[in-house]
Amino acid sequence: MKPSFLAGAVNGPFEDPCIYIRIIRENRALLFDAGDIGKLSQGSLLKITDVFISHTHIDHFIGFDMLLRAVLRRDVPLKIFGPSNIISCVEGKLSGYTWNLIKDYPLKIEVFEIQGPLISHASFHAGHSFQRIDHPGREFNGILLEDPLFTIKGVELRHDIPVMAYALEEAFHININKAALNERGLPVGPWLSVFKKSIREGGLDSAVLEISGKSYGMAELMPIAHITRGQKVSYVTDISPDAENVGKVEKFVSGSDQFFCEAYFLEKDKDRAYERHHLTAALAGRIAREAGVGNLELIHFSPKYTHCMDEIYSEAMREFKQVS
Ligand SMILES: [Zn+2]
Ligand SMILES: [Zn+2]
Repeated sequence: MKPSFLAGAVNGPFEDPCIYIRIIRENRALLFDAGDIGKLSQGSLLKITDVFISHTHIDHFIGFDMLLRAVLRRDVPLKIFGPSNIISCVEGKLSGYTWNLIKDYPLKIEVFEIQGPLISHASFHAGHSFQRIDHPGREFNGILLEDPLFTIKGVELRHDIPVMAYALEEAFHININKAALNERGLPVGPWLSVFKKSIREGGLDSAVLEISGKSYGMAELMPIAHITRGQKVSYVTDISPDAENVGKVEKFVSGSDQFFCEAYFLEKDKDRAYERHHLTAALAGRIAREAGVGNLELIHFSPKYTHCMDEIYSEAMREFKQVS
């Protein structure tokens, strides 16, 4: 199965957490957290349209300035999603610079702040020197972004302060059955993208596709599509190791193909994990097992373990695979 998304950690586990998700076939990418993003090229930064911030501790948000600089002249808006206080944090960052020479720049930053059952919305437009404009909020039902290709969901958790976990879910995945295509004498071409788009948008009855000068109805073409379960990529970091958080996370990340999870402390330091509101490697492994995830990808280790990084992986994997 050809994936629709490629998700990977930008940095090593002792560096800032930040997941870059490339949407293959669209000139676009998403970011889960914006720690140090210095390893991303200008081209990769320019593709980022939506950023999902877990919380604004400096190791998760310091990359905002660099991203802003990269997209400053762009006409595609930049959307930022985050927990309670994200709007004032973005406002604070923007007010730290002088903006008298950008009035003709098209960039619009749209910020969405999740607070319990509500999402507040504020804009910062380059044309208005990034002065804050507040908009009416909307109800938060767990879904932050809906795109024909995928949905981004969020859940609010505790890290002493509110913190958001995020998941990208592809509704379903469409593969083209090449043999069925050949049998019908249909050529490979741009029409396949239109065909997949029509399936995603549910236009199965009405759409008619022109292929090599001949018209085809969607129903006629459906046998060439092989539809499978979509990809799920989830991201959880900086959460207190309490039962309520853990229960919520297990449900939220259930069935993920890729689960990026912090493993900040070792289980032997679990008292410290409670004090600092972080998960242990064992808990990350347990959550991954209970949630039935495919791949557990560990991120965000405490710098105190640089000499024993292998212990973090083995502790988490022991729980995940339940080997003793
Ligand atoms: Zn952190
Ligand atoms: Zn934190």
